[in-house]
Amino acid sequence: MAGLLAISEVSYEALVAKANALVQAGSRGHLHTTLPGCLITGSPRRAIVLEATDESAVYGYFDNQPIEDRAKPLAILLHGADSVPDDRDELQPACSAVNRMADRMRMGKGHFHILNPACLANPHPGRWTILFEDTELGALESVSDERPLADIRLVERLIYG
Ligand SMILES: [Zn+2]
Ligand SMILES: [Zn+2]
Repeated sequence: MAGLLAISEVSYEALVAKANALVQAGSRGHLHTTLPGCLITGSPRRAIVLEATDESAVYGYFDNQPIEDRAKPLAILLHGADSVPDDRDELQPACSAVNRMADRMRMGKGHFHILNPACLANPHPGRWTILFEDTELGALESVSDERPLADIRLVERLIYG
């Protein structure tokens, strides 16, 4: 199965080095963590996928073991390079579509991706897409023009919490 992204496979060390180089250069980049069979990789392995947006390049570290603990420091690192809203922003409840996806995730029925407007895996370029790959219902989407902060915070808590 081909994934949504053409990914150059690298070691974890090389991925960390690439993420640090992006941040130091002030280049845009973001991360996806993927599970076996994920639409983004089309791979039976788990992966940490780094999109170097300004290079239109995609790097991936693949493993059979859980990768969330190794993805977390990279996500924090790259968050700092993006325009991340600060803690003074008012917390709003997530939208009803994303809340329904969150309920499905808590039931073990799938996993989330946050696809920003520049994301190469985003089926709606220029807009924000919250994608939920539901093992029974297929791909569910919530699309918005503005950065859906409350939805993103909910999803990040579910992924990294
Ligand atoms: Zn996926
Ligand atoms: Zn992406």
